[in-house]
Amino acid sequence: MSERAASTENGATTTLSRAAGEPWDAVVIGAGVAGGVAAWRLARLGRRVLLVERQTMPRPKVCGCCMSGAGVAALRGIGLGGALASGVPLETMRLSSGRAAARIALDRGMVLSRERLDARIVRLALEAGVDFIGETTAVSSRVERGRRAVTLRRGSVSREVGCSVVIAATGLGGAVASEELPATVARGSRFGVGTTVEGEGPGAGELWMACGRGGYAGAVRLEDGRVNVAAALDPEATRRAGGPGPMVTAILREARLEVPVLDGARWMGTPALTRTRRVESERLLVVGDAAGYVEPFTGEGMGWAIAGAAAVAGVAERILSGSAAEGEWMALHRRMLSGRQARCAGLSWVLRSGLMTGIAVRSVGRLPMIGRRLAGAVGRPWTETALSGGAA
Ligand SMILES: Cc1cc2nc3c(=O)[nH]c(=O)nc-3n(C[C@H](O)[C@H](O)[C@H](O)COP(=O)(O)OP(=O)(O)OC[C@H]3O[C@@H](n4cnc5c(N)ncnc54)[C@H](O)[C@@H]3O)c2cc1C
Repeated sequence: MSERAASTENGATTTLSRAAGEPWDAVVIGAGVAGGVAAWRLARLGRRVLLVERQTMPRPKVCGCCMSGAGVAALRGIGLGGALASGVPLETMRLSSGRAAARIALDRGMVLSRERLDARIVRLALEAGVDFIGETTAVSSRVERGRRAVTLRRGSVSREVGCSVVIAATGLGGAVASEELPATVARGSRFGVGTTVEGEGPGAGELWMACGRGGYAGAVRLEDGRVNVAAALDPEATRRAGGPGPMVTAILREARLEVPVLDGARWMGTPALTRTRRVESERLLVVGDAAGYVEPFTGEGMGWAIAGAAAVAGVAERILSGSAAEGEWMALHRRMLSGRQARCAGLSWVLRSGLMTGIAVRSVGRLPMIGRRLAGAVGRPWTETALSGGAA
């Protein structure tokens, strides 16, 4: 956390009571990549921003920790490239399914632990003037006379703050607002698990990706030498296997990509992954995973969250200056992300069939051009106009 924050408890720059008396332009709920970027950008536009996070920062998060080339370009493009310091360039993907294997050259992507990345973005947001409260749950409620109320809760203490616009960046599991904008979870959705371990596994800059019956798993070496393992799993198959540990081990073993030290690893989990949600209500904008997510196979979630957050700040700024049209964020969000998310969903669907997966992996192995084209699509940057919250 910054020097400004270091003097206060848990990195906070203000207290619940002080926050309740302030005339905030925006309250941003959730300090993951989406919330951090949106808060930073609004502060840089001169707005008074409160960022609220329910966990203690820095916090781990279920994630493959591989940022796509498009995500890296978006962070650098908006001026937040400093958050990537000590990231490891992502160079190759070793993709395996049963006996089929392929190696795909990657470029422009980056490996960085979520503890480090998210905390760095928050620190840069604080330096830009954002106020921060951690270990506090925020829920947006009613709109009255052009102001939104947000209830902040820490233990038994609860305070209400008012603001002109709320940005909900609450990820997969967090509530966006009381009974407003509920999420719809897709039938048959997989869930995510992740852990970090010390020891053997992929080399620096190398991503191992194993597709198996009932899910897929990825492993990379983080900037500090630990191995990060993340997987999207079928709930029923995981129950039958005896839990995430045995299930991920089986997927990696079947693909001949074993990480030997997974025994006894501590796993974190997510709720169901594939979901949709209406992303806008009066003075309430939803961004990042909270705005809808598909399975993580192509490793684009952080890029979607960063680009969306950069753009949502532009829309929030127009709401604050009275020039935003109703539904503007909904339309822009769809233009920026629906094509990319549909491609990822389509690929995830193909990978649910063992036969199709084997054919796909063998094809990539024989025709590296297919892998290069896929990697190119994942790395395709957003335009400056889209990132500024204007027309895509
Ligand atoms: C298995 C798996 C592997 C993945 N691999 C990759 C990958 O390799 N590359 C990639 O780009 N993406 C990957 N992703 C996706 C990526 O992790 C997400 O898309 C990204 O983290 C979304 O960021 P976010 O800011 O929207 O949400 P999050 O990072 O989840 O942040 C949300 C924050 O909001 C906080 N919060 C929630 N509710 C409240 C509340 N009411 N009040 C206060 N705080 C609240 C949470 O504590 C959390 O810190 C993967 C996902 C999974 C599940």
